[in-house]
Amino acid sequence: MNYDIAIIGAGTSGLSFAKALEDTGLKTVIIEKQDEAKLANPDYDGREFAITHLSHKILNTLDMWDRIDPNAISLIKNAKVLNGDSDYTLHFSHTEAGEDNLGFMTSNHLIRKAAYEAVKVGHTHMITGTEVTAIETNNTEGTLTLSNGDTITANLIVAADSRFSKTREMMNIETSMLNFKRTCIVCNMDYEGEEQDTAIECFHYGRTLAVLPLTNKRCSLVITIDSDKAKNILDMSPEELANDIEQRIDGYLGKMKLTTKLFSYPLMGVYAQKFYAQRYALIGDTAVGMHPVTAHGFNMGLRGANTLAGEIKTALKQGIDYGSVSVLSQYHQKHRQFTRPLYLGTNALVKLYTNESPPAKFLRHGLLKLGNRLKPAKHIITNLLTETDDKAA
Ligand SMILES: Cc1cc2nc3c(=O)[nH]c(=O)nc-3n(C[C@H](O)[C@H](O)[C@H](O)COP(=O)(O)OP(=O)(O)OC[C@H]3O[C@@H](n4cnc5c(N)ncnc54)[C@H](O)[C@@H]3O)c2cc1C
Repeated sequence: MNYDIAIIGAGTSGLSFAKALEDTGLKTVIIEKQDEAKLANPDYDGREFAITHLSHKILNTLDMWDRIDPNAISLIKNAKVLNGDSDYTLHFSHTEAGEDNLGFMTSNHLIRKAAYEAVKVGHTHMITGTEVTAIETNNTEGTLTLSNGDTITANLIVAADSRFSKTREMMNIETSMLNFKRTCIVCNMDYEGEEQDTAIECFHYGRTLAVLPLTNKRCSLVITIDSDKAKNILDMSPEELANDIEQRIDGYLGKMKLTTKLFSYPLMGVYAQKFYAQRYALIGDTAVGMHPVTAHGFNMGLRGANTLAGEIKTALKQGIDYGSVSVLSQYHQKHRQFTRPLYLGTNALVKLYTNESPPAKFLRHGLLKLGNRLKPAKHIITNLLTETDDKAA
């Protein structure tokens, strides 16, 4: 089986990349280890994504956004950051950003479903229920061996096979892995208080709690805690957990009720030193796996897929080999330029806001105050959080 481009992994990054190439006429294949039925109807996994304006724009262009039920999309109008036991808040508002909203919220499984449907109506070939078990590349092509015994060759292989990518390892791409030793626990709750459209990030001492607005008086909760303490939360009864959250946010949402099960994700930061090798490129979490506190992983994956597809299209127009090192290194430079500061900045933020020494507590509070007072700093943070600024594209 011979293709122009072979994509490993049908997560949101792999599917978006496949869709972005649709108008090129290239012969593409996507290989996914999950069964097709799971791709068509992905299970709910507790993850509700904060989606930036740029991602919203890309998802629209890729014919994915309109496939998501509008009732399952909520708008974030404002955001507040709280620190420790202080009442002081760093506040971001959509009016300051000059936009109708700061961003959008919807579920990962709905985006995955929409992405699958959008790719399915196109001409990308899908091979599902089959794992890539080996990869080899040379000057002219790459070869994949599949768990069903088949072999695939392609001019370019693009890996979107998760932050724990086996093919990245097989291609000897040096990758820094940062074990945060923290776990994210996510779930949804209903609330009886007034309907809210403000996202709240509480850097409490000992844990971080994000409360994200969903439609119909529902909210998504993201609790980040030391991994060795996660079990204490997972073992709570639904009533105990709801009461605990109510107290932690001072009854802001009124009476709360757990409506989903709890999902837990041990956190690992991943950054590949190079986003390409011979006839091979990395996108999505395979290139950069973010700590979720700044809600950028999916958004970055989408942007990276878009950037690589853009470089390939330019190469095709210029009659250049799109799988060549010169094209892939252009993608690497562009994507690294955007992702590196955000990756390092997010990790520094996590380090500071999980540090409870007296100087760190002082700095944590000081930075929040500075963030509110310094207009340019606030503007930069708003743009980073929302990517409302088109210059980000
Ligand atoms: C708790 C939590 C909250 C988050 N919140 C946000 C948020 O608000 N905003 C945001 O932007 N991001 C968020 N993220 C990050 C986001 O979830 C990820 O960045 C995104 O899902 C990564 O998508 P992907 O397609 O790159 O990888 P994945 O979703 O990991 O997909 C990889 C695919 O490759 C397949 N695969 C793997 N190996 C093989 C193989 N050998 N052969 C074939 N197939 C293979 C897998 O089955 C899978 O389908 C959050 C993450 C967590 C954990």
